[in-house]
Amino acid sequence: ALTYIIRCTSPFISGSLLHTHFTHTHTKNKFNTPMAAATGETQPAKHQEVGHKSLLQSDALYQYILETSVYPREPKPMKELREVTAKHPWNLMTTSADEGQFLNLLLKLINAKNTMEIGVYTGYSLLSTALALPEDGKILALDINRENYEIGLPIIEKAGVAHKIDFREGPALPLLDQMVEDEKCHGSFDFIFVDADKDNYLNYHKRLIDLVKIGGVIGYDNTLWNGSLVAPPDAPLRKYVRYYRDFVLELNKALAVDPRVEICQLPVGDGITLCRRVS
Ligand code: SAM
Ligand code: CA
Repeated sequence: ALTYIIRCTSPFISGSLLHTHFTHTHTKNKFNTPMAAATGETQPAKHQEVGHKSLLQSDALYQYILETSVYPREPKPMKELREVTAKHPWNLMTTSADEGQFLNLLLKLINAKNTMEIGVYTGYSLLSTALALPEDGKILALDINRENYEIGLPIIEKAGVAHKIDFREGPALPLLDQMVEDEKCHGSFDFIFVDADKDNYLNYHKRLIDLVKIGGVIGYDNTLWNGSLVAPPDAPLRKYVRYYRDFVLELNKALAVDPRVEICQLPVGDGITLCRRVS
């Protein structure tokens, strides 16, 4: 039997831990892990491997990663912004530190210069992007809420990267439509991070596929949607999780068969699906 425990603590979109834990309660043999089998040791059945190895299985393992590989290397301004954001009532919307580190490295690996972000909140992923880009790099940052962006802005300015950011307040879709009408914008973005209203992700995808360059990458965030995608029908999900779940399921299905992109869905943060445009 597979036991699902869905823990959702906020009415907002989670940007950090996956809140689903899988506990395998039947075992093929008395040993829970290959190591246990080798040593003859039996262990509690918690967080046992269930066909995948990932962060999803253990809060303790996730904490270990943060403390070993992420926090000690987190740039000072990002730490400051994370701590300021932690005091904000909607703080579960923020990108987690390990995902911030991932985005920063990814942008350097692909030599990104011209980027877009949809969904800024206080700017943690934006700052991780701005720090990764070269001095003349650009980020078109879109959000319906400027107030939250202004919480992070002084830290972004102090970090000396605000000149890379072009923040536009308002819904993303009409602006994307304008850009799609302008041929000059076609194929102009190296990287686009989408972390806003999940019910519009497919609408974004229809437009972004023209705006990202061939070989460029779109990252769709929260594609594991609090682990709710595999919850049984009677699982006690929060209203907003249940509402957006169908949109995330639709998105995942559509991306999986979209021949214009190569994809990889990573269990970092709440899941990020990277799409590399190939045609
Ligand atoms: N990437 C952010 C970070 O690292 O902290 C988190 C973004 S938060 C999960 C989602 C954001 O999307 C919110 O700030 C919200 O205001 C914004 N948003 C929601 N609907 C939007 C829309 N239609 N257009 C632009 N932004 C939108
Ligand atoms: Ca997110």
